[in-house]
Amino acid sequence: MMSGKDGRQQQFTNPETPGYVGFANLPNQVHRKSVKKGFEFTLMVVGESGLGKSTLINSLFLTDLYPERHIASAAEKIDKTVSIDASTVEIEERGVKLRLTVVDTPGYGDAINNNDCFDPILKYIDDQFERYLNDESGLNRRNIVDNRVHCCFYFISPTGHGIKPLDVLLMKKLHNKVNVVPLIAKADMLTMKEVVGLKRRILDEIDEHGIKIYHMPESDSDEDEDFKEQNRQLKNSVPFAVCGSSQMIEVKGRKVRGRLYPWGVVEVENPDHCDFIKLRSMLITHMQDLQEVTHEVHYENFRSERLARSGGTVEKKRTARSSRNEPDGGSAGGGSEKDKILQEKEAELKRLQAMMAQMQAQMKAQGGMPSEPV
Ligand code: GDP
Repeated sequence: MMSGKDGRQQQFTNPETPGYVGFANLPNQVHRKSVKKGFEFTLMVVGESGLGKSTLINSLFLTDLYPERHIASAAEKIDKTVSIDASTVEIEERGVKLRLTVVDTPGYGDAINNNDCFDPILKYIDDQFERYLNDESGLNRRNIVDNRVHCCFYFISPTGHGIKPLDVLLMKKLHNKVNVVPLIAKADMLTMKEVVGLKRRILDEIDEHGIKIYHMPESDSDEDEDFKEQNRQLKNSVPFAVCGSSQMIEVKGRKVRGRLYPWGVVEVENPDHCDFIKLRSMLITHMQDLQEVTHEVHYENFRSERLARSGGTVEKKRTARSSRNEPDGGSAGGGSEKDKILQEKEAELKRLQAMMAQMQAQMKAQGGMPSEPV
């Protein structure tokens, strides 16, 4: 269990509590909603093997999710397929519960033949949607466990000159299924100038290839200035240049998570050294939005395609939200689609009203309940 102090600001600068997750420090309105429900959040990490995915995830949540990690030998790598590894940790902080599942894709890029290396990743995401769809149409709708992938950290190599063709392919396969957040891995291998240049190149290439990454929502106009400024900084940091470490090192009398080099220490949680803290703030601050976009855009697309395939005639739903994920502004959905949704909702309401009326009539017949208009 982790502890922390009050104040949103702390998400950026919290030297006394390194590694603090801080989701109990969410803006109040988000916090209140979340206290009631608790969070169920699934984060997927994708990218070539060896880019520091497991290390970063462990740094992010202070839990060693992979204590007995097996490093593959050269012989194993030859025809190894991607193996998906999902671990769940429950973190509770000041009464707020987070059930976090981290889905690692450790073998990606390891195999010499990478032709089918994406399939298990994409299948995993679809399987979770499928499960949710089944649960949603089942009897136990109130207690659905949400295992859908809400966010995908996409690790980009610091040594390439931007995104590689394989990354472009995979990101394009992912972007209609999940919120893709691009990261520059092992940023400690780059100078500050190189980071700035690589960020710009990656953003240009993302644009060029029509890749839809997750866009953080604009701050509400009634948010305070600090929060707005924080949000602006987060937006400007994409793709987050991160580094991770499993080691605590003493620097000027305090223990910090860092990487020790002959010339000094790269501190993971120092915003001057990398974007780790910003990435964590992004995840915490926008956790609910990531869940909403997953539900309203990605899941809804899956659901309508799935229904269409299984004989239904439901068209691909494009909510107004989905335009946020599309660089070209996207289509906000035609009037007829909206009408259709409204009609569906109305029909559902009518069904419910009929059910209620029937129940009331029964109760009245049994025990003389006063009948009230529904
Ligand atoms: P994964 O295969 O992507 O999960 O990568 P790992 O987390 O297993 O890390 C692979 C290697 O890179 C390990 O030797 C780590 O110590 C090292 N590593 C992890 N994160 C970083 C980082 O941020 N910077 C540097 N320079 N090395 C890192």
